[in-house]
Amino acid sequence: MRDNHLHTYFSYDATADFSDYLESYEGEIITTEHFDLSNPYMGGPRDDVPDYEAYERKIEELNQRYGNRIKKGIEIGYYAPREADILAYLEGKEYDLKLLSVHHNGRFDYLEEAVFELDKMEHIIHYFKEMEEAIERIPADVLAHFDYGFRKLSVSLEEFKSLEPQLRQLFQKMIDYNLAFELNSKSMYLYNHEELYRYALVLIKDMGGHRFSVGSDGHKVEHFRLHFDRIEHLLAEFEIGEEQLL
Ligand SMILES: [Zn+2]
Ligand SMILES: [Zn+2]
Repeated sequence: MRDNHLHTYFSYDATADFSDYLESYEGEIITTEHFDLSNPYMGGPRDDVPDYEAYERKIEELNQRYGNRIKKGIEIGYYAPREADILAYLEGKEYDLKLLSVHHNGRFDYLEEAVFELDKMEHIIHYFKEMEEAIERIPADVLAHFDYGFRKLSVSLEEFKSLEPQLRQLFQKMIDYNLAFELNSKSMYLYNHEELYRYALVLIKDMGGHRFSVGSDGHKVEHFRLHFDRIEHLLAEFEIGEEQLL
């Protein structure tokens, strides 16, 4: 099981080197570097754009040194007002895996304190709408951390279940566009959202979804393949086999 969500110094918020991951694990590695336009986070707004040519060169060089163990990826942060710029950047570039995310609303990243000032349920419903729009607009392989918009918020299972119609609508869009659902171990185990992911899996399985992706969202080697043993148990419990994983 490959870790399909990982960052290095090609991402604005990470300093990890490829070798940190390559030397702590013998299997295949893919990094999914941040591409976030008009990013308000950490002193923004600014355009955080991975240097594609340098990235491509680096991956080639590492593949020669580490026996073709490394693949190219990107985490595309959707922000509606910059849709045309996002598509223009992606044009003609090749990736083995594209994650699709919604990280910010132009004013703040959803991990910032400002998220606490929003009406929680209204915000979550609005966030799902943004994700649906992202799915329609940007070609990608994986719907990343579907809970990013409310990672910081405590949402009870009861509250979450009351969003079943909205969740089903989001997952239907994901299935229609053939995107995989990401099990984000950082969300599940560092932000304690495992219960929400379990409920999401119940709905997705019920709807016939059969494409999944597992990612740590690691920005440093300590989080690489975070709690993948627990994820393996969860996958077995939900009868999700290797053939359903990206
Ligand atoms: Zn992300
Ligand atoms: Zn990420």
